[in-house]
Amino acid sequence: MSGDKSIYTQDTSNNAATMFFIPNTNQLWSQDVFKPTAYFEATKLASEAGIQPTRMCLLQAASNVDSTGHRVITPWRATESSEWIQADGVHITEVGAMTMFQTADCAAVGVYDKRTKTSLFYHCGRPAGMPIDGRSIMTDALDRMAPDGDFDQLEIVVCGMICGAHFPHESGLGRIQADAYLNEYGPDVFSDVQTRSLDMKKVLIKVHTKRGLSPNQITFFGPTCTYDDPDSISHRQSLVANTPRDRANSVVWIHR
Ligand SMILES: [Zn+2]
Repeated sequence: MSGDKSIYTQDTSNNAATMFFIPNTNQLWSQDVFKPTAYFEATKLASEAGIQPTRMCLLQAASNVDSTGHRVITPWRATESSEWIQADGVHITEVGAMTMFQTADCAAVGVYDKRTKTSLFYHCGRPAGMPIDGRSIMTDALDRMAPDGDFDQLEIVVCGMICGAHFPHESGLGRIQADAYLNEYGPDVFSDVQTRSLDMKKVLIKVHTKRGLSPNQITFFGPTCTYDDPDSISHRQSLVANTPRDRANSVVWIHR
């Protein structure tokens, strides 16, 4: 890749899929004005990663439950210049495919199936991870990857999130959503239950082990907390500081 030390990389065990986390990048494609830049930067990245520039997908993840594409997982397809897909995830069934989205505190999750050689790459913030009748984008992804319930062949890599201590929910919609986690998973998924300080890493482990996966099937990499990491962009930090945020972290999933 570009040799930048701040790029974090994690392969699946057989190198069949790789996730890159690139902190502090421009809003490449979420605003019209950046469209040409987005296309150029993404094709450059694809080319450096050995992927045909025509085989990349720009995803615009949903920021809340009202956003277009919230909790939507769609079949992967290449996006054209000045185009992106509004969804939280893509299901990839062909090799040689690159997918990118931007995030600032929300987890990026890649699921790879060693048996079928398919993968699923998704954005998992508090809204999409919130359990409704026990279901969330995490369980949706598992069921889509392995409808037969055979999860033994899955490898999961996760990057990019805020830690529990920096993610309290003391009021408003956030509190209501955090309560849904409390009701479904109990106090264990909070670093402090009183302030509803939600630990999404613990949530991810809880959800997957509840479905019978081993914790060994999940790998966390990259910065331990985007709020704390001086190189990463944090949505929560911008909110607390009341400063506008025009950058995010880019995550890239390459299915080889
Ligand atoms: Zn933190």
